[in-house]
Amino acid sequence: MIGIKENDIRPEALFKRYRELAEEDAKTFFSQVPRHRIPCPACGAFSSTLSFDKLGFQYEVCQICETLYANPRPEAAAFTRYYQDAPSVRFWATDFYKQTEAVRRETVFKPKVAQVLNILERFLPGTSPSCIADIGAGYGIFCEEMQRAAPTVPVIAIEPGLSLAKVCQEKGLKVVHKFLEEMTSDELPPTFGFRVATCFELIEHPCDPFDFLQSARRILGPQGILILTTLNIKGFDLQLLWEHSNTIHPPYHINFFSTNSIDTLMNRAGFEVLSIETPGRLDVDIVAKQLTHVQNRFLRSLLLGDDMLRQNLQAFLRDNLLSSHMLVVARSKR
Ligand SMILES: [Zn+2]
Repeated sequence: MIGIKENDIRPEALFKRYRELAEEDAKTFFSQVPRHRIPCPACGAFSSTLSFDKLGFQYEVCQICETLYANPRPEAAAFTRYYQDAPSVRFWATDFYKQTEAVRRETVFKPKVAQVLNILERFLPGTSPSCIADIGAGYGIFCEEMQRAAPTVPVIAIEPGLSLAKVCQEKGLKVVHKFLEEMTSDELPPTFGFRVATCFELIEHPCDPFDFLQSARRILGPQGILILTTLNIKGFDLQLLWEHSNTIHPPYHINFFSTNSIDTLMNRAGFEVLSIETPGRLDVDIVAKQLTHVQNRFLRSLLLGDDMLRQNLQAFLRDNLLSSHMLVVARSKR
């Protein structure tokens, strides 16, 4: 799996088209919308300073916890309209996902299933959860593979998008067609021990991540396990490329936590963090493709090095919490 390239899961032409559509949507859906200054989505402080402007969105850095976030922020209703109607959202859900489904199943979702089962075995050996709910299930690939790997555990797809929820239903999955924030605890199977929720690459999107995590806490109940992945703003490619990073892109990526600030946020929202890792595989590949933004002579020589050197560098980033892809395991407090 180490040899995975960004192009395998985000084919350049498709990803470029997606970004172009998102650029248009940033104007269409947000340029006329009132904006309000918000506290840091991680620590709650009003102490941020402007770092850069991108497509009409200001990105600011919290001076307390170093979270990068879009501020001031358009009102929540504009994001709801965007996620329901926008051409870039439709393109992602149809063209992009459909065309990358096969390769993502093998390189992204099967390893994710193995990772989740490993985590459960590590923290709760010999036990079995009452259910595994995937928040933002999309095409339902994770749920399908998880159901195959753990046939006795009920697997639930939580998916607010109508067309994606239909895709999940047609695959025979149990679906809750709702935003997480609208769900109640009894919409999941009764718990006889503990529930598990997974949430992959999602917390960088919501207008209010604190509210989002509190909702996750509510549906899990006490002693539930939340496994989430998100971007780490202190990671290699985000730190080096900063405003030139294609990942830092409105209106869809507006919250960038660090290994420290995600811990702060999870605690505030009622979780005890059990582990934080950065098992990323793509940092070096991503920066190597945008070398014009790297001036440092030594870093350039590393990034232009042979495959072995680049793999060693990626392994170093992964092992030292310095990759931009992070994995958090948390337990809901009593
Ligand atoms: Zn903060």
